[in-house]
Amino acid sequence: MSERDYYEVLGVSRSAPEDEIKSAYRKLALKYHPDRNPGDKTAEERFKEATEAYEVLKDPQKRQTYDQFGHAGLSGAGAGFGGAGFGGFDLSDALRAFMRDFGGFGTGGGIFDEFFGGGAGSQERYNRGEDLRARLELTLEEIQTGVEKTLRVRRLEACDVCSGSGLAPGASRQTCPDCRGAGQIRTLSRTFLGTIQQVKTCPRCRGAGETITSPCASCHGEGRVRGVSRIKVRVPAGISSGNYMTLEGKGNIGKNDGQPGNLIVVFEEKEHKIFTRQGNNVICQIPISFTLAALGGEISVPTLNGNHTLKVPAGTQSGKVFRLRSKGIPHLHAHGSGDELVQVAVWTPTKLSGEDKQLLQELDKSPSFTPPESDKSFFRKLRDSLGF
Ligand SMILES: [Zn+2]
Ligand SMILES: [Zn+2]
Repeated sequence: MSERDYYEVLGVSRSAPEDEIKSAYRKLALKYHPDRNPGDKTAEERFKEATEAYEVLKDPQKRQTYDQFGHAGLSGAGAGFGGAGFGGFDLSDALRAFMRDFGGFGTGGGIFDEFFGGGAGSQERYNRGEDLRARLELTLEEIQTGVEKTLRVRRLEACDVCSGSGLAPGASRQTCPDCRGAGQIRTLSRTFLGTIQQVKTCPRCRGAGETITSPCASCHGEGRVRGVSRIKVRVPAGISSGNYMTLEGKGNIGKNDGQPGNLIVVFEEKEHKIFTRQGNNVICQIPISFTLAALGGEISVPTLNGNHTLKVPAGTQSGKVFRLRSKGIPHLHAHGSGDELVQVAVWTPTKLSGEDKQLLQELDKSPSFTPPESDKSFFRKLRDSLGF
C-alpha cells in the first residue's frame, strides 16, 4: 500500500486536468509494466503505485475525497476495489486497470475480457459453439399465411464416439503446461507507440487451457464432428426480406460438449410471377377487353389464396385500380392485412378479321367513340387510384 502522494507519484500538479493525469499515468505504466521489466520488483512496485494513483485521480469523486482527507479518506469500505480498500490492491488489480483503459493499443479491444475474464467464465465463452446463418426463401403465398419449413443445416454436432468429450477411451485431461490453464499467453512487441503487451491464444492448447493425453480418433479431440441436421422453422405471417429469426442453441455445438451457438435464419422473399409487393399491399395488372371496359361486367382476378370475382363498372378507363381490402400481406406486428391492388389495362386487339374491321369502323362513326380533348385531370385521376 502506497503512502506517497498520488500527485507526486504521477508527477502532476494538484490542479492537473483528467487528460494530463491519464497521459502521465500511461507513460509511467508503459515504463514500469512488469512485462517490460521481468523480475524487477522495484518496477513492479512503481507500476502498482502509479496505477493506484491513477485509479483515484481519474475518478472525480475519489479524487475529491483524497484531496480532502488524503490516504485515510480512501481506506474505508467501498472506496477501494471491490470494497476491500487499497490494502487489497495488488499487481493483478493494477494490470487489470491498465488493460481496461489501455489494453486497446495495438492489440484491439476485448483483450481485457478475454484475458482476465478468468476461470469458468472464459472457459464457457471459449467452449461455446459458433453462431450459424441460414437463408430461407419464401413465396408470397407462404408469407401471407405463415408456414413451417424444414431447413437442412450443415453444422458441427457432438461426436458419437466420445459423446462430445474429445477423449479416447481411458484418456484424461490435464492443465496445459504452457499457459497454465489460461488458454492465452502474453507476449511483448515493439511498435512506434512503445512496447505493447499482446495477448495471444496459446498455441499448445489452442486456447482450451487443457491438453488431452490421447484425443478421440474420430473428432481429433474437439468433441464435435461435421453433420447435417433438419431443423424446423416456424415462420410467422407477414415477414419481409431481411427479417431474421434467432433459433437459440441450433448453431454449432461447442468444443468438448460446450454450449451450442445460435442459428440465425434470414428470410428472403421469392419473386412472384403475378404480384409485386409494396409494403404489405400486393399489386397485379390484368388486361381486359375494350368491350368489357365499355359495357362493364365481371372478371376473375387472382389473389394469394385463390381467385376472386371483381365487378368492372361500365366506362372503366385503362389503368384504373381496384382495391381488394385485406387481400394483401398480414401486418407482422399489428392486426389486419394489406390490400390487393388490381390495375386493369384495356387490351387492344392486334389481329382483326374483315368483319371485325367493318363493325369497328361503324362504331367509330358514333360520337361516343371519340375521346375527350387532352386533359391532365383525367390522367391524374388514374394515377391517384393506384396511390403512387
Ligand atoms: Zn495452453
Ligand atoms: Zn470424439
